[in-house]
Amino acid sequence: MSHEIRTPMNGIIATTCLLMETPLTSEQKELVQIMRTSGKSLVHLINDVLDFSKLESDKMELEAEPIDTVSLIEETIEMFPYDAAENQLELIYFVDRRIPNLIYGDRERLKQVLVNLVGNALKFTSRGEIVVTLRLSSRETTGGSEPVIRFSVKDTGIGIAPEHHERIFEAFTQADASTTRKFGGTGLGLAISRKLCHAFGGKLSVKSELGKGSEFFFDLPLREVPQQGSLKPEHLIENQRPLNGKNCVILTRNLSLSSLIQTYCESWQMQTHLAPVLDESVTGKIVQFRPDIVIVDPLAIGQENRMREFADQLIHHGIPAIFLSSIGESSIRIDEERFPLIRTLYKPVSELKLLRDTLSMIQRKNGIEISEKAFASEAEANTPRGGEFAKIYPAKILIVEDVMMNQKIAGMILEKLGYTGIEFANNGRKGVERVSEGDIDLVFMDLQMPVMGGMEATKAIRQNFNLSRQPAIIAMTGHALAGVRESCIAGGMDGFVAKPISLADVRSALADAYESTGKPLPKLAGV
Ligand code: ADP
Repeated sequence: MSHEIRTPMNGIIATTCLLMETPLTSEQKELVQIMRTSGKSLVHLINDVLDFSKLESDKMELEAEPIDTVSLIEETIEMFPYDAAENQLELIYFVDRRIPNLIYGDRERLKQVLVNLVGNALKFTSRGEIVVTLRLSSRETTGGSEPVIRFSVKDTGIGIAPEHHERIFEAFTQADASTTRKFGGTGLGLAISRKLCHAFGGKLSVKSELGKGSEFFFDLPLREVPQQGSLKPEHLIENQRPLNGKNCVILTRNLSLSSLIQTYCESWQMQTHLAPVLDESVTGKIVQFRPDIVIVDPLAIGQENRMREFADQLIHHGIPAIFLSSIGESSIRIDEERFPLIRTLYKPVSELKLLRDTLSMIQRKNGIEISEKAFASEAEANTPRGGEFAKIYPAKILIVEDVMMNQKIAGMILEKLGYTGIEFANNGRKGVERVSEGDIDLVFMDLQMPVMGGMEATKAIRQNFNLSRQPAIIAMTGHALAGVRESCIAGGMDGFVAKPISLADVRSALADAYESTGKPLPKLAGV
């Protein structure tokens, strides 16, 4: 049985969201916004309660699947670009190089904990930074010591008084009553996260001082996936060698960001130089010094005209540069075709992309073009991009989902992958009727719907022996709860994506549905 909950509020939110596309008075807009927010928090609360009681009652079974640690952290952080940019918060991550590329663990649940911790850090921090780190460590056990990965999420936010350090892990507890009014929330996130960490074999703890920020951390026993084959491109000596001894000037506002960039550059044997806050004399010194590359955070410069002047100086003197940028942050846009030695790199800074751009700019200055394809992240390398995806995995798709907003999101994601002619059904019964017409290859099926739910609809589709071929069915549900995936598969579905659905999840669910030998997208099996 699915534990996801629906409220009539969902429908209201969807309708009002659509209404928002037609001109509304400012009062109406405010009302719509309030309804949206309260509806969302109600759904959030109920889902959290169900999640928590599920964890209380069931013996939890964890998945042991290979997890790419870097992409797990990147995916988590990529969920919050606007939250960070809104307050100009620096969102940084660092994964200890000694941690293997792939470890065994329960990806969805690990992500659930991290999303909760990063989400809280953003919620309770209005200035400064949030730093997520994964470090290799070890801990004592009865049989000696075992390697662990320490996950830490550290912020410079409001902090927590010592008397609340344990209480906040209890269900429905917040550090102080005014928190609910000011920040919202259910007081369940940390209780759920602590239970999950316990199941992983660790303990979620906090170090914090009121007014000085907080650090939440837990240890995950390291279970390395053996025989991982080739090294990642950022760890290949041949990619680092051209950078040996090269001079890099780093100009950022935030110390953690500059030391992160410094750590990466020094690991590639570059000479690093931290520049103080920019003024004319500093610009002059940088230009005179003629570094091989400048890595600059526009936040360190502030005004756009000063950024532009700085960029002009670098362009004029032929000094390669990387301008870091965040979504929503004011930054200059440089025409990279006209000025091929300047690159914009989006935060959070990834080691792979920083190496790619540093190498590319420095080599270009020497007249050498590198192949940037080799630097595609694992997810990028393994899955075709944009519209190409639909060409490789063509399918006639039906989305069965009652909430208009969710229909829109799923539709947009599939269009991004190049799918056209996507059809929608508002409930299970309509979905079954549409499938019975015979030309649907793939169904994205919501679980909880009025008239007929997703499980029942799947059963009806699977029992329809008049169909010359069965479609693949992928469940979409609000919570990645234990057991939901299994019951979907047992109920005749082929895959599962958790809402809010992401491009990456849809991509891999589609590819899996297509490639699973049991039920390939039938129409395509013979292509
Ligand atoms: P929620 O955030 O939904 O209230 P949580 O269980 O995630 O529930 O957090 C419980 C309480 O712990 C929060 O209400 C807040 O008082 C405190 N808290 C959690 N994370 C932080 C943080 N990073 N900084 C300050 N306080 C925090």
